Amino acid sequence: MNPLSYRRATFVEDAIVLPNAGHRLLGGGTNLIDLMRKGVERPTALVDVTGLSAEIEATDEGGLLIGAAARNSAVAAHPLVRARYPMLARAILAGASAQIRNMATVAGNLMQRTRCLYFQDAAGSRCNKRLPGSGCDAIGGFTRYHAVIGTSASCIASHPSDMCVALAALEATVHVTGGAGTRAIPFAEFHRLPGERPDIETLLEPGEVITAIWLPPSPFGARSTYRKVRDRASYAFALVSVAAGLTMRGGCIEDIRIAFGGIAPRPWRALRAEVALRGRPLAREAVLAAVAEDLAGAAPQPGNAFKIELAGRTLEAVLFDLCGRSR
Ligand code: SF4
Repeated sequence: MNPLSYRRATFVEDAIVLPNAGHRLLGGGTNLIDLMRKGVERPTALVDVTGLSAEIEATDEGGLLIGAAARNSAVAAHPLVRARYPMLARAILAGASAQIRNMATVAGNLMQRTRCLYFQDAAGSRCNKRLPGSGCDAIGGFTRYHAVIGTSASCIASHPSDMCVALAALEATVHVTGGAGTRAIPFAEFHRLPGERPDIETLLEPGEVITAIWLPPSPFGARSTYRKVRDRASYAFALVSVAAGLTMRGGCIEDIRIAFGGIAPRPWRALRAEVALRGRPLAREAVLAAVAEDLAGAAPQPGNAFKIELAGRTLEAVLFDLCGRSR
C-alpha cells in the first residue's frame, strides 16, 4: 500500500502547493481516482480543491465567470449558460453520465487526462506520456479514438473533453493563481500539443491552481451548438465533435467560430476554416473544402483516417441545421 495524505483547501492560497511531483489537486475525482486505481497516477498527497469558488456570475462586460469548483451539471443547468452559451450547455450534457457530471468540476474537466488505452495500461504498454522516452504502443495499434492532427512522433492521443471544445470556440480565458501571482491564459493556449514532451499537457506552472473560467459575451447566442459523433448514444468519447456558432448577413456568413473535438491532442480551433467561410454563402462544397484546408496537415493512422471526412460532414450538418436549411 502506498502512503497517501489528504487535506482540504478552503482558500486558493491553501491549494498552492510547493512544486512536488507527489502532490495532486483533487476535484470531483472522476478521472484522478480512476487513474490511481489503475496505477497510472501514484500521488503521495491529495489536496482537495472542491471547497474553492463554485460561483457562476455575470460580469459587467456581459460575460460570465465560472468558479473552478463549479460542478459540470450546475454549469449546464445554469439559466445564463443555457441562454447565452447553449453550445457549452450541450457540450457538457454530451459528456459522461449524469452521475459523473454531478461530481466533476470545471477545473477538473480542463485537467483530465487522455483516455488512450495504452496510457491507461500501466502494467503492459509503453507510453511516452506516462513515462517519457519509453515509446508509444498506440502508433501502429488500435487508433480509432486517437488524434489525426497536432500529433507528434511521440504521442497521438486525443483530448477527451467535450466541454473544452465549446470553451475553445467561445474563446474562454483560464484564470490561475500561483506562487508568482495571478494570470489569465487564453483557452487556445492552455493545452499544449505533445511535441517531444507529451507528459507536459498544459501551460500551468508547478504550484499553479485554476481559479475560474471567464467567458466573453458571445455574438452567436441561439445560433450555436455542439454535436458529438460517437460509437454509441451515451457514455462514449467523441470520434469527432463540433462546437460551432455563426451569424448571417445578406445570405452570407458574417462571422463564424468552429472547434473540433476527438481529432487532436487539444480542442482544435479551426481558424483556417473560419477564414475560408467568412463572407461566403453557406454551401456544402465550401464547408467541405474549408475543413479539408484546415486539416491539410493531418497525419492520420490507418485506423482513424475516416475522421477527416467525418469532421467535414459533421460541420456541414451542424451549420445547415443552425441556419434552418436542409442539405
Ligand atoms: Fe501514450 Fe500518447 Fe502513445 Fe497513447 S498515444 S500510448 S498517451 S504516448
